[in-house]
Amino acid sequence: MSLRAWPRIIFHADMDAFYAAIEERDNPELVGKPIVIGSSGRGGIVSTANYVARRFGIQSAQPGSEALRRCPQAVFVKPRLSHYKRVSEQIFSIFHRFSHRVEGLSLDEAFLDMSGTQSLMGEPKEVARRLKDAVFEKTRLRVSVGVATQKFIAKICSDLEKPDGLTLCPPGFEQEFLRPLKVEKIWGVGPVNAKRLHAMGLHTIGDVADTPFESLRGHLASFGEHIYKLSHAQDTREVGGARVRKQISEERTFNTDLNAQECLERCTPLLDDVLKQARKRDVFARVLRIKVKSVNFKVSTRQKTFVRSTRDRSECLDAMRELFNTLDVQGPFRLAGIGISELSGEAQPHEVAKASQRDLFDIERTTQNHSSVADVPKANAQSREELENTLDQIQERFGASVIRRGN
Ligand SMILES: [Mg+2]
Repeated sequence: MSLRAWPRIIFHADMDAFYAAIEERDNPELVGKPIVIGSSGRGGIVSTANYVARRFGIQSAQPGSEALRRCPQAVFVKPRLSHYKRVSEQIFSIFHRFSHRVEGLSLDEAFLDMSGTQSLMGEPKEVARRLKDAVFEKTRLRVSVGVATQKFIAKICSDLEKPDGLTLCPPGFEQEFLRPLKVEKIWGVGPVNAKRLHAMGLHTIGDVADTPFESLRGHLASFGEHIYKLSHAQDTREVGGARVRKQISEERTFNTDLNAQECLERCTPLLDDVLKQARKRDVFARVLRIKVKSVNFKVSTRQKTFVRSTRDRSECLDAMRELFNTLDVQGPFRLAGIGISELSGEAQPHEVAKASQRDLFDIERTTQNHSSVADVPKANAQSREELENTLDQIQERFGASVIRRGN
């Protein structure tokens, strides 16, 4: 094992036979049978096959009729895409808990930039193991993870020991690892480019590495340059996590001028909005900020840093009221805003996982029993979080006016 430090740590996480695995999980009578997601009818295409079906030579993108010919006893299941999307969201919320930079490639596959997390989170292999466990704990589905210093090697790694794989290519071992592999293993090398490489007598990544740069560029132009770099383990591409937002905030301009009491009351729904977005993105806030503007355009802001990242409503509400009382602007007020920042996905991961697993029965029970949240007994932070999640779900299903939070 290498003793070198990791210059970058890239995870590639890829769910195993994702759609088929979801159907098996949800329909236990399917377990052990060859399952094909897709149709065997005219023009039908195999979307995903489980590992039992793959033993019969069934593959993604094959015509359904061909799959049926290879395995007449295969069970064909109609895809439930919106269901798979919901499961995907659960999985990505776990990815975001592990990394602030997540680049999704499809519903079931993503790069995670884990660079610089070693001292905080531990050895990459242990962290990858925890990621796999967290995904399984929440979804009962298996993910294969590849760990390397570069994207394309991480992607190769995740595929090598599927299903339920965990494969590392430690720093310093990249070239040794790559040399014996077929050129087809490289992400982005499809049949056409593979054929061009074969025509030059190049079959393994080692073959490519031994070919002079000029020759590759001469024969293959920019693709030649690209593959030369990759064969020498020079993939400098970053994990594209551009959509990561650093803060969440809401502000409102009022139609009428408000006194301090009215303004504070109007801040509560803003805070609820912000916290709802935090729950949706599965992040916790270190900092809460309040901003007001008076009718003569004086702006005042205050912020509080929590000891421990939170999205607990009562804790944030207390902080918001406390901050409001220290503002140095006199009313009447024109505008108020609430924001949270220094977001992380790290606080209380297990509690959150449990909290988001509430089902419709919980929702219905809650709507029957509580017309207002005010009569919900005082509870600990975890059940408050569950309650907030349930309210989010009710409002999403039945509209925001169906149920309101009491003060
Ligand atoms: Mg997959």
